Amino acid sequence: MSNPYDVAVIGLGAMGSAAVSFLAARGVRVIGFEAASPAHGLGSSHGDSRLIRLGYFEDPSYVPLLHRAYENWRGLETRLRERILNITGVLQIGKPDSKIITGTRASCNMHNLSCDELSAAQMRKRFSVFGLEDDEIALLDPQGGWLKPEAAIWGYLRLAAADGAALHLGEKVNEITPDDNGVNISAGGQKYRANRVIVATGSWISQLVPALNAIANPIRQVVAWYRPANGFACDPLRMPAFLRDDGDNCSAPFGFGVFAA
Ligand SMILES: Cc1cc2nc3c(=O)[nH]c(=O)nc-3n(C[C@H](O)[C@H](O)[C@H](O)COP(=O)(O)OP(=O)(O)OC[C@H]3O[C@@H](n4cnc5c(N)ncnc54)[C@H](O)[C@@H]3O)c2cc1C
Repeated sequence: MSNPYDVAVIGLGAMGSAAVSFLAARGVRVIGFEAASPAHGLGSSHGDSRLIRLGYFEDPSYVPLLHRAYENWRGLETRLRERILNITGVLQIGKPDSKIITGTRASCNMHNLSCDELSAAQMRKRFSVFGLEDDEIALLDPQGGWLKPEAAIWGYLRLAAADGAALHLGEKVNEITPDDNGVNISAGGQKYRANRVIVATGSWISQLVPALNAIANPIRQVVAWYRPANGFACDPLRMPAFLRDDGDNCSAPFGFGVFAA
């Protein structure tokens, strides 16, 4: 007997909302579940800003995926007729031998990406707000910028619904049980069946996929907003988005100047 859905997507944050939308647009019979109201403040995809970079310092192998991501963000904007991606440039700041600088340079060289190097003295003239140490430099990725995650999630969900996806919002999935013919899904006291399942429950993934317990646990991340002093406008020409290597392997402070358009 065939299942009523080809794919069930569990969790409709940044990942799940995009997944339901792309599947529905291809005519796949898709059902999506979100435990809370979409884009809520306890997940990872809330707020109005997420950094995007093309010259990815983490590894050059991400760059083709990023080209595809940029295409998809532009595609989403076209369908929604709404601005989601703001290109401001991203400054990647650190000592010349830091991971952020060496990694960004490697990605840019391998993929022939534009990447302007600025000394501390040049930075003081052009982007005085950053106050670099004498032994730091910056690489400017002109294609970097920031995305609006909540607008993206709501946009993807609107498109998914318009393309025929069944969306169950405020409905937590309690259990998934695969068998030879698909997957059983228990949610909100009901049972559902699909051929396949995508678990996109972010940092809660180990509740449904216990094998990930050792590596995925929710933690709190603190975001701070500062009101600029003396009428300093967060104009990208004066303050592009930035990422700074502070020598700590686990974190690199980053931020954006967001201004009322
Ligand atoms: C403060 C902060 C800043 C960040 N900055 C950046 C950045 O600048 N650039 C960047 O690229 N990345 C950034 N990230 C990372 C990026 O935001 C995340 O990788 C991304 O949002 C993850 O999306 P997700 O869909 O996997 O998870 P989430 O957005 O957390 O979505 C998971 C969803 O699953 C739902 N769910 C959980 N359990 C169930 C269940 N059993 N049944 C149904 N639904 C369920 C949750 O309610 C949630 O809505 C940042 C993350 C944080 C927290």
